[in-house]
Amino acid sequence: MSLKNNFEDLKKELPSHVTLAAVSKTHTAEKILELYELGQRIFAENKVQEILEKKDRLPSDIQWHMIGHLQSNKVKQIAPFVHTIQSVDSEKILQLISREAEKNERTIEVLLQVKIAEEDTKYGLEISETKELYLQYLQGAFPRVKVKGLMGMATLTEDENQIAREFQFLKRLFDQLSLSVPLEVLSMGMTSDYPIAIKEGANLVRIGSALFGNRN
Ligand SMILES: *Cc1c(COP(=O)(O)O)cnc(C)c1O
Repeated sequence: MSLKNNFEDLKKELPSHVTLAAVSKTHTAEKILELYELGQRIFAENKVQEILEKKDRLPSDIQWHMIGHLQSNKVKQIAPFVHTIQSVDSEKILQLISREAEKNERTIEVLLQVKIAEEDTKYGLEISETKELYLQYLQGAFPRVKVKGLMGMATLTEDENQIAREFQFLKRLFDQLSLSVPLEVLSMGMTSDYPIAIKEGANLVRIGSALFGNRN
């Protein structure tokens, strides 16, 4: 299958309220450009170095999403241009993002990454931390970020019930937090589980392999 076919099939499958972030990590700028020319604008990467290497060779209206764990010392490298940081997993990193956004006289959109998987994942906020952080945000603690929503990754398992449960859990938190000030973006689902994620309320999916093929 070609990239074009994969893209067109996927677009047909996604309901109109669901936004596609094309996960381009490990894939070349040429492949990204091919997808760009078919109309895709949101591309997601998990390494700062890789975004930096690719972005200068690509159109400036690409919206770059950071989806990998972000080290403090790297925030300033992406702050001038990154559209959304989906992987906010600590208060410290949110503070830094706000500060670096201010230096660049802009606002950076972020999602809070919540730990929902049963498996022992390294990154992501606990529920209580997420609530606390959103409250601090609403009180004005991070003036140069806009918290748009939540991001989560389900356990890598064949058990679809478990995956559905984990996504339901994040959706409930999303709804709870939205009672104070509505959140807009619920980012869940990748190649292996996006149909479940959409069924459980995702409105942004992060898809790599189903578009570009397997990563080496
Ligand atoms: C790599 C990655 C994806 C996409 O994975 P695929 O299985 O290739 O669709 C989604 N989200 C995150 C956080 C990733 O690191």
